Amino acid sequence: MAARPETAESTPIGITPSDLPAHVRFAPDTGHIMLFDQRMLLMHGFSLGEMRRELIAKLGLDETREMFMRLGYQQGIEDMKRIKALGSGDIEECLALGPRLREIEGFVRNNPLQAMHYKEGEAFYGDYIWSASWEGEAHLAHVGLSGEPACWMMVGYANGFCTGLMGTPVVWREVECVAMGHAHCRVIGKPLDQWDDADKDVRFLRIEEFVDGPGKGRLGIRSSDNAAASAQTTTFGELMGASAGFNAVVQLLTKVAPTDATVLFLGESGVGKEQFSKTLHAIGPRANAPFISVNCAAIPSELVEAELFGVEKGAFTNATLSRPGRFERADGGTLFLDEIGCLPLPAQGKLLRVLQEQEIERVGDTRSRKVDVRIVAATNQDLRSDVAEGKFRSDLFYRLNVFPIEIPPLRDRREDIPLLLNLFLDRYCRKFNKSLSGVSEKAFDALWSYEWPGNVRELENLVERAVILADAGGRIDISHLFAGGEQLGSHIFSVSPVGQLVNAFQQGQNKTVSPAGLEAVLDLVLDQGQSFDALEQLILERAITRSKGNVSAAARMLKLGRGQMQYRMNKPK
Ligand SMILES: [Zn+2]
Repeated sequence: MAARPETAESTPIGITPSDLPAHVRFAPDTGHIMLFDQRMLLMHGFSLGEMRRELIAKLGLDETREMFMRLGYQQGIEDMKRIKALGSGDIEECLALGPRLREIEGFVRNNPLQAMHYKEGEAFYGDYIWSASWEGEAHLAHVGLSGEPACWMMVGYANGFCTGLMGTPVVWREVECVAMGHAHCRVIGKPLDQWDDADKDVRFLRIEEFVDGPGKGRLGIRSSDNAAASAQTTTFGELMGASAGFNAVVQLLTKVAPTDATVLFLGESGVGKEQFSKTLHAIGPRANAPFISVNCAAIPSELVEAELFGVEKGAFTNATLSRPGRFERADGGTLFLDEIGCLPLPAQGKLLRVLQEQEIERVGDTRSRKVDVRIVAATNQDLRSDVAEGKFRSDLFYRLNVFPIEIPPLRDRREDIPLLLNLFLDRYCRKFNKSLSGVSEKAFDALWSYEWPGNVRELENLVERAVILADAGGRIDISHLFAGGEQLGSHIFSVSPVGQLVNAFQQGQNKTVSPAGLEAVLDLVLDQGQSFDALEQLILERAITRSKGNVSAAARMLKLGRGQMQYRMNKPK
């Protein structure tokens, strides 16, 4: 394969159609099916076909066709972006992958009469027979015979994929369709300006909203593409995420930032509470005033009050100079009190008084000083139970709990992992002035299935270590990320080229048994001079042992039915 330029931003992967199934991953334990970094849904074709029929009945054919074409167009654009990001930059190669991807997604089988081609100076052209078209069959089953082609979503997809890839509007048209009674569907694709009556295709698609019109040169995917992208990925200061959990936090943050309300961040350690606090400060009206951070757990309890409120000369024997505390330094800005649950009870009482009166007294001073500080606190403890146990003052808790924001742990927002991975890869490749060609599939699977007890901070640390360990120009592999000892999940499955679900971690281990290795084992067995029946018994018993006595599991291991397995075990010797 030709060398191709790759950056840390992409996750370059092998790029032949038979490599594509491995990019579907089933993670039943986390409730995700992923295609590259996109969440997919295994839903019933029947229910979608039925909804399609209802929409036709309610909105009419034209409206429904438009909606489904646009839905398909979106899907085509999203898949095009992933295929393009595989790092090839070779349009011919990407064009070969698109039809295969659609087959993997279960929509259609593509048989090229003339496979899509594009060469510099030549016009785009493609001609395919579609068999097993989901939409054509659904139209026949739910709506009945059609007077016109009915594979709307599928044509929309082809338009989106090719238009995005070619950078100029490409229109596909069905010239035969099973919904019309033909034996199969057939589609032809050409640039928009090569159809002399493309109005009717464009009208349904409103293609002018997606691309610059014909003759306007290169693509400017506009409104729809950008809207979709920003709905998926939110970049917010230094924060980045795509998950529902992350977006909920960002929305709360946006609402509360313009106010002076006290905010209490809750969440496990490492979820980024300080980052969120800094962002809250940066997007609020106090952005130009100081952001002062205090980790209440890191200060010895006898010094907490001096740290927070300052010291007046002579307060203790070694207080030879007066100095302001963090409250005074944060005047006009934001004071971030991290691990607030670790604040000793006497300091809690003083903090409460400051919050109520908005003035502080330095230790050893009798004078009070006015301060104007927005308080943002954070904890990974359950403050309510601390209150119940008498470890935390209830009046202070209610004062702080005005606007609580809970940041979900990373394992509950795995959709953010690919984005954060790219962010940190980029950061540490720059820092160590190193260029890498991305992350191996196995490493990505491991990152996806890991439980992340240390959350985003742990991910950042692992990526930093991996960037140091990986060979320049090479890919990051599991061994670079995980030093060992981490509990890597094994309940993640990918799809083999022939469509079998395989455990994503065991897959590689199986490959290590080479035919030569197997031959050596067989020689060893034959040298033992065992009878064939005895060998069969040995294999059966071994399978039973490995499946911990579960006969059905042992049978599956040997690709036998349970009955066959039982028969072989019990047959007279
Ligand atoms: Zn059709």
